[in-house]
Amino acid sequence: MINFEYDCHTKMIMGTGKSKDIASIVEDIVLPSATIMIVTDPGVKSAGLVTPIEAYLQEAGYSVVVFDQVSPNPRDHECLTGAELFRKVQASAVIAIGGGSPMDTAKAIALLGPNGGNPEEYIAGKKAYTNVSPLICIPTTAGTGSEVTRSSVITLATSHKKITLKHALLRPTIAILDPALTSTVPKSITAATGVDALVHAIEGYTCKETNPISKAMGASAMKTIVTYLPKAYEDGSDLEARYKMQEGSLLAGLCFGSADVAAVHCLAEALGSLYDTPHGIANAVFLPYVIQFNAAENKSLHIELANIMGFADKTDADDVAIQKLMDGMYTFTKNLGIPSLKELSYVKVEDFEKMAELAEQNNSTKSNVRAVTKADYLDILKAAFSYSHTDKEPNRLTE
Ligand code: NAD
Repeated sequence: MINFEYDCHTKMIMGTGKSKDIASIVEDIVLPSATIMIVTDPGVKSAGLVTPIEAYLQEAGYSVVVFDQVSPNPRDHECLTGAELFRKVQASAVIAIGGGSPMDTAKAIALLGPNGGNPEEYIAGKKAYTNVSPLICIPTTAGTGSEVTRSSVITLATSHKKITLKHALLRPTIAILDPALTSTVPKSITAATGVDALVHAIEGYTCKETNPISKAMGASAMKTIVTYLPKAYEDGSDLEARYKMQEGSLLAGLCFGSADVAAVHCLAEALGSLYDTPHGIANAVFLPYVIQFNAAENKSLHIELANIMGFADKTDADDVAIQKLMDGMYTFTKNLGIPSLKELSYVKVEDFEKMAELAEQNNSTKSNVRAVTKADYLDILKAAFSYSHTDKEPNRLTE
């Protein structure tokens, strides 16, 4: 029996074409003729996803200012520039259109715009999370779940460290999930973002902070993502697969959003902060190895995962089910064209110490279901690095 709290005040609106209703949705949170700040990135803009939403808002009488200086793995200085613009134009609300990078930047702007300061001051407790601007998130990838989480992941440009602003008030006011907006996501990004969502569901389900609601959401997300990610990857115009992937990533966000992530994310954020590796790929390269590490001490939990995702069934002996889970994870990410750690040509063995250190310092390390040390992280890094997808058998950690 556990005590737990589950919180999510975000109103969720889902349906193909729902982003076209933006003007009537925004009416609920701002006064007529208010100034609205759209936060996006150049890729989303050139995919043609911003102009129609901007036009619907302008037709309804709102002034719209677009801030598109967001990079993948957004930087602290981008949030500060955005916050300055928010104050200059006296924005009344922020609308994020994009993947996790614009959504996280928009959350930071919604906080820093009205209150000033920089992200580190909030994390250090020197400034209070208060007076956050109304925020609407319109995800254009199916991966991060940021549209319903309380987190904003920002990279410090000088130290390359990823830090996380985390507060209930950072949960968006409204999330509009329009699967049609994800149909332009290229194949490799579909794969990477989809695996990110799967890892959210796995880590939210298995971590020490999990709770019955997160588990229910996580189990449903895992089943959905394992079924529909290969379909969305094979045919990006398959709208049913795109819909189910947005549903899966939403459920995964609701799963970890009131629990936590764990060791896969700690390593992924370390890799991403050193090399700017896309977040989903960074997760994928460590997933099978962390599962192997965790399953060694938590067999029944991982047998549950194997059964939920359909890699094993109830007739399998325990060790067989765990083996099938690990092999299933290798094959799943390999079939999505995701490279192994060794195949990321820029990764240097000399950086492993630093990566293991960053992973250990990550707040979510303590949430991993099995206690994990810097030495364990080093072992996982070495095992992941010694494997190419062209090898017949994936390497195993030595226990
Ligand atoms: P992203 O937002 O960085 O986007 C990746 C690329 O995809 C960009 O070049 C973008 O232009 C392009 N893109 C996005 N939508 C597109 C579309 N519909 N058509 C064509 N191109 C499109 O990627 P992401 O994986 O969604 O987000 C990653 C970021 O989110 C990382 O910084 C990560 O740390 C963070 N994150 C946050 C949370 C959270 O809860 N806040 C959770 C997980 C990850």
